[in-house]
Amino acid sequence: MFKEARIKLTAWYLAIIMVVSLSFSFAIYVGVNRELRRIENFQKDRIQRLIRGNPLLPSLPFDEDMDAISESRKRIILNLALINISIFVFSGLGGYFLAGQTLDPIKKMVDEQKEFVSNASHELRTPLTSLMTEIEVALRDKKINLKTAKNLLSSNLEEVKKMNKLSNYLLKLNKFGTKDNDQFQSEFEEVDLGKVALEAIDKITPLATKRGIKIIEDLKSIKVKGSSESLTELALILLDNAIKYSKKSGKVEVKTKDSSLIVSDHGIGISEEDLPHIFDRFYRADTSRSKDGVDGYGLGLSIAKSIADLHGAKIKVDSKEGLGTTFSVVF
Ligand code: ADP
Repeated sequence: MFKEARIKLTAWYLAIIMVVSLSFSFAIYVGVNRELRRIENFQKDRIQRLIRGNPLLPSLPFDEDMDAISESRKRIILNLALINISIFVFSGLGGYFLAGQTLDPIKKMVDEQKEFVSNASHELRTPLTSLMTEIEVALRDKKINLKTAKNLLSSNLEEVKKMNKLSNYLLKLNKFGTKDNDQFQSEFEEVDLGKVALEAIDKITPLATKRGIKIIEDLKSIKVKGSSESLTELALILLDNAIKYSKKSGKVEVKTKDSSLIVSDHGIGISEEDLPHIFDRFYRADTSRSKDGVDGYGLGLSIAKSIADLHGAKIKVDSKEGLGTTFSVVF
């Protein structure tokens, strides 16, 4: 598809350049030809006048002059043709190269989109297959009792919850990942980072309590321009990760300082090889370890980055494997 588009684009580039080049060549030829004709007529007149003034004059080299003029005309046509052929060849090659450069980012985007759809379908297929198998087995069991049926339903509910979480992630990714900066920023208001962090802490506290993790706050009022809803979302993602990847009964610190929101944990940390990829969609560091009891799709940080980008903020990570991780959102 892209090869065909590249050839079509090259043809368009070439057509435009050749129309311009041929028009210029035609204009040059018409102008030069007019001058040559003027010289021709001038020469004819001069010779007529000479013959009239002196009838005994031997024949003048009039034909030679005319031949030279028509020779010049042919040479001009040949030169213009050569110039146009060179322009055709060079602009064809250049156009093909430029068409490749123009289409490259679009190709990359389409490839990314394809990969994204394939990853999302894969993630959806796992809980769906599990749901299907459980239901089919239960339906085949003619003597199924109430307790087994209830167990089955609660297991089904877990799978449905997972799918619901994934679809929420996908919606958020779509919401923040494709928003037009100008349109989004026009809705910005003054937001207190301290309050944003508090709201996120309130929402995440039940999960922290469940895992026996203590959240330690050091929050000052710091005003930034932004969307309070999406910044709370960002803080929630960082806190959720800090809790998920902490050892049980650990502690997580949340701080606001110098236009930054800082979330630190003392959990498993991130290896140096994984660090450059953690913001990629669907990336989960060391899957076997991460998935061992820790749910996730590798989409949280990519949503967090989209939100930070929309606010013109940067997310910095400082992590040591086995010691812990600090995420700082710098405004
Ligand atoms: P996930 O749903 O897997 O948590 P994220 O996009 O939020 O997806 O994070 C991507 C990966 O980055 C995670 O799978 C995890 O390996 C790593 N990670 C993120 N936050 C932390 C953290 N606080 N401590 C250790 N690893 C983390």
